[in-house]
Amino acid sequence: ETDQLKYKRVLLKISGEALMGDQGFGLNPPTVEKIAAEIETVVRMGAEVCLVIGGGNIFRGLQGSAQGMERTTADYMGMLATVMNALAMQGALESLGVHSRVISAIPMDQVCEPYIRRRAVRHLEKKRVCIFAAGTGNPYFTTDTAAALRASEMRCEAIFKGTQVDGIYDKDPQTNSDAVRYDTVSFDEVLQKNLKVMDASAIALARDNNLPIVVFSLMKGAGLMGTLKGEGTFTTVG
Ligand code: UDP
Repeated sequence: ETDQLKYKRVLLKISGEALMGDQGFGLNPPTVEKIAAEIETVVRMGAEVCLVIGGGNIFRGLQGSAQGMERTTADYMGMLATVMNALAMQGALESLGVHSRVISAIPMDQVCEPYIRRRAVRHLEKKRVCIFAAGTGNPYFTTDTAAALRASEMRCEAIFKGTQVDGIYDKDPQTNSDAVRYDTVSFDEVLQKNLKVMDASAIALARDNNLPIVVFSLMKGAGLMGTLKGEGTFTTVG
C-alpha cells in the first residue's frame, strides 16, 4: 500500500486558522476532527506523519506587540497557543485510534514530551504522528520556520502545506477569476516574486535543505491522501 504514496515521510503544516472553522477565533471541534480523519487515512496507508500547527487562531506575537506588549512576551504567548492546538489535535487523533505524541520545543513535562530528535524519529518509525508544538521555541520565528526546521531534522521527503486553495497562483484566486495556478515554482521565484506560501526564512531553509513544499487544499479536491499519491491539483515548490 505504501507504494502508492509519492512520499513516505512528510511534514504537514497547517495554520491555526485552519482549525477555527467558520468561527472567527479559537477551535472548532468538528473542523479539528475532519483534519484528524484526513491524517488517519494516510497513517493507515503507512505514511509517517509530522505535524506543525500554527497558533494564529488564538494569538499572534505581532498582534500583541502592535498593542504595546513586549515582542518576545507576545511571541511566547503565540507559542503557547500552538501547544493548545496541538493538544486538541492529539485528542481528535486519539479518538480515532491514531497514536500520536505532542512534542514541544519548550519543555512542559506534565503536558507533553520535550523535543529530543532521536526520540521523535523513533516515534515516526513506529508510525506515531509527531505533533511538533511551541514552534522553534524562539521568539521572532514562525511556525512556518518550525515546519522547515523539523522537516529537515526528521528527514522528511516533503513539506505539505495545507491552505484554502489548491496551490500557488499568480494573484489571489479568491478575488481574481483569471488567476493562474503554477504547477511548479522554484524557491528563488517564490522569494523574488514574494509569493505568499511560507515566510522567507522558512522558504530559504527548505531551499537550502532540498525540501520540496507541496501546497494543496486542505478542504477541497484530492485531500491529503490524494495529494500524497500525486493526484488532484497542487503546486510544488522545489
Ligand atoms: N511563534 C514564535 N516562534 C516560533 C513559532 C511561533 O514566536 O518558532 C509565535 C509567533 O508569535 C506567532 C505565533 O507563535 O505569531 C503563532 O504562530 P504562527 O503565526 O506561525 O501561526 P499561524 O499563522 O500558522 O497560525
